[in-house]
Amino acid sequence: TAEEMATGTGDRRRRVLLFPLPYQGHINPMFQLAGLLHSRGFAITVFHTHFNAPDASLHPAYDFIPVPDGGARPAADSPDDTVQATVEHILALNRACEAPFRELLAAVLDDKAGGSVACLVADAHLLTLLDVARELGVPTLALRTGSAACFRCFTAFPMLCDRGYLPAQDTSQLHAPVIELPPYRVGDLPAAGSPAAHGRTREVLLRAVTAVATSSGLILNTFDALEHAELAALRRDLTVPVFDVGPLHMLSPAAASSTSSLLRPDHGCLEWLDAQAPASVLYVSFGSLAVMSATDLVETAWGIANSGRPFLWVLRPGIVRGGAPSPSPPQLPDGFDAATRGRGAVVRWAPQEEVLAHDAVGAFWTHCGWNSTLEAACAGVPMLCRPCFGDQMGNARYVDSVWRVGVELDGGGELERGKVAAAIAAVIDGGGGENGMRRRALELKRRAAESVAEGGSSSFNVDKLVDHIMAL
Ligand code: UDP
Repeated sequence: TAEEMATGTGDRRRRVLLFPLPYQGHINPMFQLAGLLHSRGFAITVFHTHFNAPDASLHPAYDFIPVPDGGARPAADSPDDTVQATVEHILALNRACEAPFRELLAAVLDDKAGGSVACLVADAHLLTLLDVARELGVPTLALRTGSAACFRCFTAFPMLCDRGYLPAQDTSQLHAPVIELPPYRVGDLPAAGSPAAHGRTREVLLRAVTAVATSSGLILNTFDALEHAELAALRRDLTVPVFDVGPLHMLSPAAASSTSSLLRPDHGCLEWLDAQAPASVLYVSFGSLAVMSATDLVETAWGIANSGRPFLWVLRPGIVRGGAPSPSPPQLPDGFDAATRGRGAVVRWAPQEEVLAHDAVGAFWTHCGWNSTLEAACAGVPMLCRPCFGDQMGNARYVDSVWRVGVELDGGGELERGKVAAAIAAVIDGGGGENGMRRRALELKRRAAESVAEGGSSSFNVDKLVDHIMAL
């Protein structure tokens, strides 16, 4: 039983195989899940592509198996449309890894010394590899790294197309509400803003739905108090069990995500935060994939400078479209350093969980990737949202109008420094107060802590997941 395993009295140390999709926002939750399952007594083997390979030396307790990916890379300088590039890359990785994965998995199954294999947990975007595992007799679980609401959009995609919501015909349609899926508007749906990629996006989303439907269970990085209705609806629609075991970063042993960072986090910024007043600093990060125009960078910089607030800004190499190629950091406008001297810190990559947990952080300007959204909500930090693509618009909608722990920086088009400065001030100053966003964010933080504590919903679901894996 799970209990025997946890106490070390079971004689079998069962092995869980993991295969993350090689993007930061997918790698982090998979490694958090690995940490969690390892702490429950499972041996861990991580299959991974050569692209964005994890650093095995940071995880001495796990086995790693590189899978040749045929050199599949996201199309470099097309990312005017990141969605299109990502969708093509996901399909290419599935194709390229199929044959090598079949061979490598068969070898693991033959190796009796490695302990019996309980199951494969793969990202829901790796349908081909989940199929391979099932063909070789290995039970599978699918990890979806987005919200429950987002996965409902995936399952509803054919209906959304049949009813004419998608592909959106023109920009006026983007504001129309999706009656069947409140609080979504058409423009919040995954891929609504990328009509050129509609066909291939539909293919990728429906493959993820198939991956879940043909698996032995869906693992979601969310928790009941955050998405109660969405989880209930998913459970109604799906025939496989759903395990909402989030927030995974709070359940996993400490440091799981800092060891799965593809860029080295700059810990020096934590000391800088130590010297700032409580709830005074704006933390700015747009995650690992979002890119911006050179003009947006200039307006962002001057908006931050003109807000007059202290700031910690993650300026990832390669973030400016058509700008200095990675690994050179983007150039900030002339005069920015002088205008903000002593008031800000700019880093290439931050230890985000620790930053969000720091008392000095008063607000988070985010692109609303699901991990960032969840990490901020669970740290009680109000958000200024500027979603870019994929599930980010939907996440921003929930932040703004359901949980009401942030506001969307309106426009969606080009940024303008005056509006940026005003929005920053409004979130930092207006976040406080009796009915403010910060109070609601702190309430979410409390509920997240409750859900992972003993007797909480996610903690209960982890036990169920462990029992489920043992029984597969
Ligand atoms: N992250 C980080 N340091 C940074 C920026 C991001 O560690 O400077 C982490 C963040 O904590 C999150 C992940 O990278 O876990 C980004 O995932 P998310 O889903 O927010 O966005 P994506 O990168 O997939 O767009």
